[in-house]
Amino acid sequence: MEDVVIAGAGPNGLMLACELALAGIRPLVLERLPEPTTENRANGLVGQVVRLIDRRGLHERLAGPIGPPVPGFVFGAMHLDLTLAERNPLHILGVPQRRIAAVLEERAAELGVEIRRGHELTGLTQDADAVALEVTGPGGPYRLQARYHVGADGGRSVTRKLAGIGFPGVTEDRTVSHSANATVPAEFVDPESGGLRIPGRGVIPPFFHYRTETGLFAYAPFPAGTLVTAMEWTDDEGSDDEPPMSLGEVRASIRRVLGFDLPIGEPEGAGPHLLRRLRGRNTRLAEKFREGRVLLVGDAAHVHSAIGGPGLNLGLQDAVGLGWKLAATLRGWAPAGLLDTYESERRPVAERVVMHTQAQSALIVPGGDVTALRELFGELLRLPSTVQHIADLMSGADVRYAPATDHPLDGRWAPDLMLADGTRLAELTRTARPLLLDFTGSLGDELRGWHDRVDLVPGTVPDEVTALLIRPDGYVAWASSSATPDDTERKALRAALERWFGDPLDA
Ligand SMILES: Cc1cc2nc3c(=O)[nH]c(=O)nc-3n(C[C@H](O)[C@H](O)[C@H](O)COP(=O)(O)OP(=O)(O)OC[C@H]3O[C@@H](n4cnc5c(N)ncnc54)[C@H](O)[C@@H]3O)c2cc1C
Repeated sequence: MEDVVIAGAGPNGLMLACELALAGIRPLVLERLPEPTTENRANGLVGQVVRLIDRRGLHERLAGPIGPPVPGFVFGAMHLDLTLAERNPLHILGVPQRRIAAVLEERAAELGVEIRRGHELTGLTQDADAVALEVTGPGGPYRLQARYHVGADGGRSVTRKLAGIGFPGVTEDRTVSHSANATVPAEFVDPESGGLRIPGRGVIPPFFHYRTETGLFAYAPFPAGTLVTAMEWTDDEGSDDEPPMSLGEVRASIRRVLGFDLPIGEPEGAGPHLLRRLRGRNTRLAEKFREGRVLLVGDAAHVHSAIGGPGLNLGLQDAVGLGWKLAATLRGWAPAGLLDTYESERRPVAERVVMHTQAQSALIVPGGDVTALRELFGELLRLPSTVQHIADLMSGADVRYAPATDHPLDGRWAPDLMLADGTRLAELTRTARPLLLDFTGSLGDELRGWHDRVDLVPGTVPDEVTALLIRPDGYVAWASSSATPDDTERKALRAALERWFGDPLDA
């Protein structure tokens, strides 16, 4: 019997596999594609997930050391001036999804995870003790038994369907978007901003969504190749026998959106190059993220517009939120109900992503009333408090899991601390173990019953916080700002240890 079978070796399934392996569980990953896909979806990671990747040592592999937050971003095709925010939480990592998945697959292999490519999940039943899976591999159909099964098999999740979990929401079919890697003649590129000079429209900044009365245009000169996208409003639903996509179709779409014929050309470089027509968009949230021994992560649990790029910020943090809880359940030390907190913590986060992607989608619709709404929104976006609010929302920095105390850090993502000896918190969290950072030198005894599960990190830190209990997913389970925590704080620390890491050894 397998401990955990994961269907889907997309980024979220692979991340979950890494987290389980770090926690001492060897999952089996089934992936129906025989080779990694060459399709590129995400062009990068946006938000707290960049810091999460750093805290697992993966940022270095993808792009070297983590940089500062970005000075600006886009919300609903409006500029978000992040220099106005008091605390800018918005990091971006501009690396294509296929590269992210490749690095996660490499990491999973290093951790001893078995990934069976060309193996498709086709059937699933469960009872109180196990999940029975039917799989079709290159050698034909076979069966597997697992204690838990996780569907990381994308928006059309077979796991979700087989488990009988509904996927309510809306399908919007009024848009068609055309994207392509292409070259743009140098005379259209503004040397100062790197944007595009379009007659009658001035300079369209790079990496910006530019709204017109017929659609949306984006020009993104990524290091790996320039991407142009035109999204239009349409009554045409398309059909199954649409002609294959061409650069000419993208060019025509740009002409309709911008009212100008931008002479894009064939892409340069080795490729693979993107050439994609995408009709409509789905906004759906699974009825539940867990049915007995079956769980869902990533797109299998939620789909929404890609506007603002929040998908992997949500999905990869789902995977990290689930990994340690599932591992603790399998290893036998999980407190009662721990696995259920996966959904109670992650569903509200998914609901907020659905909310802000729908809000942004509403802000790009053509029409005078929307233009007026954008004018008002533009005024609001000049207020530092609004910029802070939106930046926190888009990065996920506003997520706070149910705190047990009134310490402002309780339930929050642990801040990027640096110890006095120069060690960054991100270096201490690579093992994905729970940590008690004790800068008071007085809390070691409190950890006595949990030393097998929680690591003590002594040291000093030039900050107001003096002690932090950090869960493997990076969230704070308890915090203190006292030079010597008193009895009440110590009691709360022991309660937090029990709440998240189970009974003490000598209980
Ligand atoms: C156009 C576009 C642009 C996007 N841009 C961004 C962006 O900039 N930033 C961002 O963060 N997100 C972006 N996203 C969202 C992001 O791509 C998804 O959230 C992400 O791919 C979800 O990962 P996943 O692992 O959950 O699912 P997937 O990537 O869909 O992976 C699921 C895997 O499961 C496999 N599978 C399916 N069925 C089975 C089965 N029965 N048995 C075995 N294996 C199976 C599939 O082959 C696939 O490999 C974008 C999405 C789109 C469509």
